[in-house]
This record gives sequence, structure tokens and C-alpha cells, in this order.
Amino acid sequence: LLFSASRAQQDDTCAAVVTSSRQILSNVVVKQHDLHEGFGGIHPSVAIEAHQRNMPGAVRMALEQAHISIHDVDGIAFTRGPGIGGCLSVGSNAAKSLAAALGKPLVGVHHMQAHALTPLLTTPTADLPKFPFLTLLISGGHTLLLLASSPTSFQILATTADASIGRAFDKAARALGLSWGTRGPGAALEELCRMTNDELESLPDIPPFTTATFLSVDEPLSSSHKIALARAFQTAAARQLCAKLTLSLQNLELKGVNVRDVVVSGGVASNIFLRERLRAALDEYSSDERISLHFPPLELCTGQRFDVSTDSQGLKIIDTDNAAMIAWASMHRFLAGDYDDYTIDLRPKWSIEDIRV
Ligand code: ATP
Ligand code: FE
Repeated sequence: LLFSASRAQQDDTCAAVVTSSRQILSNVVVKQHDLHEGFGGIHPSVAIEAHQRNMPGAVRMALEQAHISIHDVDGIAFTRGPGIGGCLSVGSNAAKSLAAALGKPLVGVHHMQAHALTPLLTTPTADLPKFPFLTLLISGGHTLLLLASSPTSFQILATTADASIGRAFDKAARALGLSWGTRGPGAALEELCRMTNDELESLPDIPPFTTATFLSVDEPLSSSHKIALARAFQTAAARQLCAKLTLSLQNLELKGVNVRDVVVSGGVASNIFLRERLRAALDEYSSDERISLHFPPLELCTGQRFDVSTDSQGLKIIDTDNAAMIAWASMHRFLAGDYDDYTIDLRPKWSIEDIRV
């Protein structure tokens, strides 16, 4: 058994219990969206205070839902970075103190590596992605196209020139004056897009499309104009990701690198429209279905969340940031006996290319 006293990255406070045989015994996510909505973004000191308040309860609940005692846990993992130092420290201090007091091994995890490896936890055994695979990490802090050659070796093939795609969704949602709802601004924008099929003006294909969204906003905005702008934004964002993904596949093929699987993860990967566009782009690229596309499941586990939100079709949604993914990303190290010292430092800035450094 393995227990992860964290993610504690920016917003949600998470704790989970995961086994080496890929079972998620519990996966608690304590949300703080409504705390941040007033600021129009994540406010670090508010986030730190909320983590401090919520961490003990999240840990307690993760153990209760897994029906185990802390003494049944064999190791404790936490998010070492990258992220806001103050937020990371809440999870890491909880994990280190627990591990030291109990005499259990400790492993610090790279947050983006955990995103990238999630499909190895959640995909049915028969369809598991095989190294080397391509990973499209699309989250609040990152837009990364990676070549994953092993659980610890990642090469950055492409990244964003300006804001991350998640932040772009957040900014566009704010420009359109959307309320966050339980699932946050990006999901609110996606939901708005589903309300009609109309397209407005097209937005540029390269990053200024977020700015273009702002420039197109006239007050007061009619609701149909709002929906059309949201759709134009979402379409422009998806178009870019599809183009870069197929370009990279072409380049790798030219270099003789044999990629059979593409893994998409990060909070933005829960966007259904984007999932459909990526699938269509890959089908067009490899019509003989040589390449499989993997997404984190919308429903990672049922009945184990502190705060399970529901989308408009009544599906239970789990945002992809969670402690189960952190626990899973630490598993190969626990199994190999490769532990960290209780004195291990945080890495608020930490490239995914330097995991082993
Ligand atoms: P990072 O993982 O880079 O450190 P993070 O952990 O804050 O950042 P995630 O929690 O993985 O990021 O993703 C959060 C982002 O995903 C937010 O910007 C949010 O608006 C966006 N997001 C969530 N759901 C959707 C959706 N359905 N459509 C678009 N964006 C979404
Ligand atoms: Fe994340």
C-alpha cells in the first residue's frame, strides 16, 4: 500500500491511497475554487492557508475511505515540484513528518511526470501505452509536448511561447465574465460552448488568440455573442494543439522513432471538444489506426471523493490533478527501494527533463 499526502500544488488539497497493483483505494480532492473566484485567479497566500486548513482532513479521509490505518501504509509520496513553494511546502511537510514519525520511506514526485504517467495507472492492462510514447501535457501551468522514453526520461519537443493553455482558457472565461461553477473557469467555458453550434469570427492560429478574445469583448455582450466568442477561442486552441501534435509525429517518423501511443493529460485534457478534435487529427494522420490516443478517464473512481462535481450530462468528473497520480508516479521508486531523505528540499522550478538530477 502507498499513501500520498499531497498534491498541494496550487489549488486543491489532495490525499490518496494507491496499491502497486494499480488499485486506487481512495482519492480525496478538497477544492478551493470558490475561495479564488473573487480574485479571478489562484491567490498564493489564500491557497497556502486553505492547504494548511484542509490537509489534515484530506489525509484522515483518504485513510478512512480506504478502510486502512496509517500503519498499513508502506510509503509516503508528495509533490516536490514544480509549483508555488508555499503550497508545495504544506504537502511536503505533512508527508515528511508522517514518514519520519512512522519510520516509513519517503519519495518526492515531479508533478508533471505524475500527469504524464497517469494513463499507466488508469488504462486497462490490454491497452497500456508503450514507451516511447508522446505526451501532450495541457494544464494550468504547462503546455508541453513530450517524448516519454521511460518513467523518468522525458524530452520536451514543443512548448508554449506565452501563457499555458489552461491559463488561456481561464483568461478567456474571465474576459467573457463566466462564473466558475464547481469545476473551474476552463470547464465553464467548455460548457458555454456546448450551448449552440454557431461560429463567430475566427481567431488567429497562434498564441495572440487569448488577446484576440479580450479585444473582441464589447460590453455589454449579448449571450449569443458570448457563446460564439467562446467557441471561436476553443476552436483556435484545439487547432494549434492538433497541428503541433501531427507535426511532431511526422518529425519523429522521419527520425525513425517509432511512436504508437499518444497520451493526453492535465486539467485541459478533460475538455471533450478537444478530445474529439485530437482524435480526428490523429485519425487523419494515421488512417490505418497505427496510433492509439489515451486520455485520463473522466471518472477516475466513484464514491471516494470529498467533492464530486457533475457535468451537464450527469457524468461524474474528476479533474486530473489528484494525489492518486502522485502516488502512482512514486511507485517505481518505492518498488526499487530508491527513497528520498527526510531532509529533501522542494523544487518550485523543476524541468521535466531533469527528473533524475
Ligand atoms: P500544472 O499541472 O501545470 O501545475 P495545474 O495543476 O493548476 O497546473 P491542472 O489542475 O492540471 O493544472 O489543470 C487546471 C487547468 O485546466 C485550469 O486552467 C482549468 O481551467 C483547465 N481546465 C479544466 N477543465 C477544463 C475544460 N473542460 N476545458 C478547458 N480547460 C479546462
Ligand atoms: Fe496539474
